[in-house]
Amino acid sequence: MKIVVTVKLVPDTTADKRIDPATKRLVRTGETVLNPFDEYAIEAALQLKEKLGAETTVTVVTMAPERGKEVVRKALAMGADDALMLSDPGCEGSDVMGTAYALAGAIAKNGFDLVVCGTQSTDAITGELPGALAEFLGVPGLTYGRKFEIDGTTLRAERETDSGFLKVTTGLPAVVSVTKSINEPRYPSFKGIMAAKTKPTTTLSLADLGIEASAVGLGAAATVVVDSAERPARGEHAVVKDEGDGGKRIADFLVSRKLL
Ligand SMILES: Cc1cc2nc3c(=O)[nH]c(=O)nc-3n(C[C@H](O)[C@H](O)[C@H](O)COP(=O)(O)OP(=O)(O)OC[C@H]3O[C@@H](n4cnc5c(N)ncnc54)[C@H](O)[C@@H]3O)c2cc1C
Repeated sequence: MKIVVTVKLVPDTTADKRIDPATKRLVRTGETVLNPFDEYAIEAALQLKEKLGAETTVTVVTMAPERGKEVVRKALAMGADDALMLSDPGCEGSDVMGTAYALAGAIAKNGFDLVVCGTQSTDAITGELPGALAEFLGVPGLTYGRKFEIDGTTLRAERETDSGFLKVTTGLPAVVSVTKSINEPRYPSFKGIMAAKTKPTTTLSLADLGIEASAVGLGAAATVVVDSAERPARGEHAVVKDEGDGGKRIADFLVSRKLL
């Protein structure tokens, strides 16, 4: 079985995220990390490989500039077998549909039985890519999976909802996204970090995939950021020192703000 995991390079979760007022695009010059939601996707794929056996492969795929190698290295150190990096200046500024279209090209070229994604990224947070990817690959999409198992060419899953979960079944190939409650991602071991150095990473361009530059990138984006504003600084705040009346004073404060 061929399992493919999508991984995204995002600004460090603790870094201040800024939109460049001139380009209206996210400033990506600071520290970057593997999108935290993707660690659960990698872990889910590795656990599936351990269940299904050694003939199963786990390939990670990312659409990123050269520095995307950082997230690939981490995923390979966790235990993925190999990596695909779609790295082309023509991809810059792609919106969700452009990113999904380009990633679908790379994944289709590699071949797949199951694609596993995180539920969202920590920078754009649209949560739309897994569904768009399933559409471009022409396969079922199953999102917010908190548990799934594979039996032959059947995928059974529990899909997390606000009120509990749904039991859903679909045939393979398919695309799934997994929630944070599905597992506890492993830390790369020293052995894993060393092994990652020799695992293959294939770098692809849009031309390698036969994708027209006009189909992706800022020029093809259906959504355009027209303006942005800094979040207003936090208003003045009161500190309540509890001298036995802390609870009452907080209640009075909430009442005064019509919150109670
Ligand atoms: C601040 C900001 C706002 C944006 N707003 C919009 C918008 O409103 N509409 C729009 O169409 N685009 C928007 N974009 C662009 C969009 O973020 C990118 O196209 C992005 O690559 C895909 O969307 P996402 O990060 O929201 O993915 P999500 O759907 O939130 O992420 C789900 C999963 O998709 C996978 N994934 C996402 N991007 C990649 C990648 N490059 N390589 C590999 N896997 C990936 C990851 O596994 C991730 O866990 C925005 C970008 C920024 C920085």
